[in-house]
Amino acid sequence: MASEAVKVIVRCRPMNEREKALSCQAVVGMDSPRGQCFIQNPGATDEPPKQFTFDGAYYESHNTEQIYNEIAYPLVEGVTEGYNGTIFAYGQTGSGKSFTMQGIVDPPTQKGIIPRAFEHVFESVQCAENTKFLVRVSYLEIYNEDIRDLLGAHTKQKLKNPIPHCFLADERGQDHLRAAKLNLVDLAGSERQSKTGATGERLKEATKINLSLSALGNVISALVDGRCKHIPYRDSKLTRLLQDSLGGNTKTLMVACLSPADNNYDESLSTLRYANRAK
Ligand code: ADP
Repeated sequence: MASEAVKVIVRCRPMNEREKALSCQAVVGMDSPRGQCFIQNPGATDEPPKQFTFDGAYYESHNTEQIYNEIAYPLVEGVTEGYNGTIFAYGQTGSGKSFTMQGIVDPPTQKGIIPRAFEHVFESVQCAENTKFLVRVSYLEIYNEDIRDLLGAHTKQKLKNPIPHCFLADERGQDHLRAAKLNLVDLAGSERQSKTGATGERLKEATKINLSLSALGNVISALVDGRCKHIPYRDSKLTRLLQDSLGGNTKTLMVACLSPADNNYDESLSTLRYANRAK
């Protein structure tokens, strides 16, 4: 896969009230113009900060509008032109994945990537001349490796052969038809089970989440590496669902979400390492 096909950006949210009340120190820094992110180990302040370079580095002063315009817009535009695309947010619980994907209404600059992509697709449909579009949408949940259709009449029923997550834009010209699919994925939290202290059903859930996140990481790094003949799509339901939208003639954007606080250092470092493998 051409390296252009996978873009990875990092987004660090502001310190929250709880972190402020705990007098947490910020250990994440950014040099946004260079796409660089730094993280300082709070237990080894004499060591230099670890440095990572991505396709974009967004800090608390940046908003989702900027992220969309600078990095997500071309991917969604590609979908309207017939290229499959996938956008997903990765990070520990509370790091800003839903804030980035779904967003908030006020201020409007923080409207999420999902509603922006919807508006973008429908605007393209409205503006197109001499072209007919068919837009299909599905909304799926993967839970404990079972897939459920959240728009279906029987949301509890497991899907055996799901139509993937998707926007399907069919463009029927005089003599051609183009189809593309856009996957917008709000992943589960990436935190390790040892930290959550989960047992029983919760532990089972966390184990399956870790399985699909590591399968996704393995697929993306195999694609980016370019030398692997075998891409392990079949290792999880998530990668199987995304198979035709990862690799090949497709574009992928990963938004790695971080907390700035020192007490999240281990999780933030693990998010940065995961994101770094995808470049
Ligand atoms: P996650 O989906 O990763 O579990 P959330 O998106 O729910 O995390 O974010 C946790 C909290 O932090 C929410 O209250 C959210 O509004 C807030 N938040 C996240 N990112 C930002 C941001 N960039 N700016 C302001 N608040 C944010």
